[in-house]
Amino acid sequence: MRSTATLMSLLFPDTCVLCDAPGDALCLRCLRLLEPPPPIREPPGTHTVDALCSYKGAGADLVLSLKRRNRREAVPMIASALCVALDARRAEGSRSPRITWLPTTPKRRRTRGFDQAELLAKAMSKFSGWPAVKLLDRRSGPQMGLGRQDRVDGPVFTARHSCEGELILVDDVLTTGATIAAAAEILLAAGATTLRAAVVAVAP
Ligand SMILES: [Zn+2]
Repeated sequence: MRSTATLMSLLFPDTCVLCDAPGDALCLRCLRLLEPPPPIREPPGTHTVDALCSYKGAGADLVLSLKRRNRREAVPMIASALCVALDARRAEGSRSPRITWLPTTPKRRRTRGFDQAELLAKAMSKFSGWPAVKLLDRRSGPQMGLGRQDRVDGPVFTARHSCEGELILVDDVLTTGATIAAAAEILLAAGATTLRAAVVAVAP
C-alpha cells in the first residue's frame, strides 16, 4: 500500500518551495506574503530595473530556496513574471533583446553545481523566445562576506563576445547595485546599446 505522502506526490508533483504544501511551486498563500520591491535606484549603466519582490521575509526565503536548497520549481513562474514586466516596457516593433546574466563565481558554481542567475535567464528565454547568451565571465571572489571597500569596488567581469544591441541582465538579488554597475560598464564598453536589469528581489 502506498503511503499518503507518495499518493500526494503523484497527485501534486510540485510542492511549494516555501511551505512544502502540495500543488503549485509557489502556493497562493506564500505568493501573497511576497512584499513588493522597494523604490529602486537604477545602478549606473542600466536603463530600467524590474524586480519581483523585496528581499525580505518570504522574498528572501524564495531566493534562498533556490540558491541554498536547489528548489528550482518556482523558477519558471518567476521568469515568466519578469518577462511580462520587461515586455511591457519595450517599444512596439523593437528588435528582440538578448538575455544574459551576472555569473556567480566559479567557486560558488562548483559548490552549488549550478548558477541561479543562469537558470533564471534560461527560463526567461524559454518563456519569451528572446535568446539567452553567456556574455560575461566573473574573475574575483564572491561579494558576500567581503569588506565594505570590496563591495563598493565590486567584482571584475570580462565580456566574452560582442555585446551589441539591447540586453537584459539577470541576477537574483539587487543589494548595493555595485555588481550590476560593474557588469554594465563592461557590457556597454563591449557595444551594448540598452541595458535592462531583471532581478528576483531587491534588498530593502
Ligand atoms: Zn507555500
